[in-house]
Amino acid sequence: MAKPLFDITPFTLLDYPHKAACIFWFVGCNMRCQYCYNPDIVFGKGKISVEDAVSFLRSRKGLLQAVVLSGGECSIHKDVKTIAQKAKDLGYLVKIDTNGSSPKTLSALLDDDLIDYVSLDLKALEADFRAITAASTFHAFEESYRILQSSNISFEVRSTVHSALHSRANIEAMIEYLYELNYRGTYYLQVALNNVRTITDLPDSTYNIANLNFETTKLPVVIRG
Ligand code: SF4
Repeated sequence: MAKPLFDITPFTLLDYPHKAACIFWFVGCNMRCQYCYNPDIVFGKGKISVEDAVSFLRSRKGLLQAVVLSGGECSIHKDVKTIAQKAKDLGYLVKIDTNGSSPKTLSALLDDDLIDYVSLDLKALEADFRAITAASTFHAFEESYRILQSSNISFEVRSTVHSALHSRANIEAMIEYLYELNYRGTYYLQVALNNVRTITDLPDSTYNIANLNFETTKLPVVIRG
């Protein structure tokens, strides 16, 4: 049986809002974002089986409140539903981090009440999407967004931005785009990391938490390091 997880982070207070959580890092991804700093996960092999992941959850019952299904891209794995179901059976809240490329999987998870929170990545607008991600799933992102908007669960939209890939005008256009989609939640901008191995060699990004501020009344925009 293929092993779906590359690794488990056993404890985090940062990745599920206001909850103590663990992170399951699903191996593999259907994108190749140039700035991606997890090439080991994207190109790696799974090391942890579904059974071992569930054992881990059993061992942390009562100590953790939530599990984050991240990656790589968790939604491309057929096991994501099984793991989410087991986590719910054990009483955990479940969050998924997704690039939005698998709206069918997202729908299936929502239909069965298997997720409580979603972080949805907006990689770029349509004109730049393929160049930045090597994928042509911009419309799948839009479908995922609409599914979440019409659901009753909490979700956030976030973007990782690198100055060589996303100009300030691009980012302003992304804010405007989300506003036009009727998004009124907080838009999280994450600064791409320098001095790490990335999928594509890039110059250092000039963005940092201090200089990436946007004057907009359209959406709350929060910069993350
Ligand atoms: S940053 Fe892109 S390539 Fe890396 S894991 Fe996320 S979606 Fe996949």
